[in-house]
Amino acid sequence: MTDCIFCKIARHEIPAKVVYEDDDLIAFHDIAPAAPVHLLVIPKQHIESLAGVTEEHQALLGKMLVLAPKLAAEFGAGNGFKTLFNTGKDGGQVVFHLHMHIIGGPRPWSNAQ
Ligand code: 5GP
Ligand code: ZN
Repeated sequence: MTDCIFCKIARHEIPAKVVYEDDDLIAFHDIAPAAPVHLLVIPKQHIESLAGVTEEHQALLGKMLVLAPKLAAEFGAGNGFKTLFNTGKDGGQVVFHLHMHIIGGPRPWSNAQ
């Protein structure tokens, strides 16, 4: 997807504060953090949303979830964090490239997301 902003981040065509990368995934700081720690983990391949996944994506999704506690701990949210997949317009999804939010860090912080 040439016009997708997260595909562009995955291809390093636009800047992002990248915190993790491998052949399948890239993780970076959210540009508008809702908490002291707010990371996004995305697959490098373009999948629109959780509504677009099939059995072939099981390992990829598992990999995203296994990465979450590691990144949370590394970035100061070891005491607790939320993982969130906004899915579809009514689910609050704004960027239509599958992404997992990791939101946490020392409270108090807003529950807006
Ligand atoms: P959604 O509502 O789709 O789940 O959330 C999209 C998230 O992506 C938002 O939290 C927003 O701040 C973040 N975001 C949107 N554009 C960019 C960008 O260009 N760079 C980064 N790092 N985050 C972005
Ligand atoms: Zn994309």
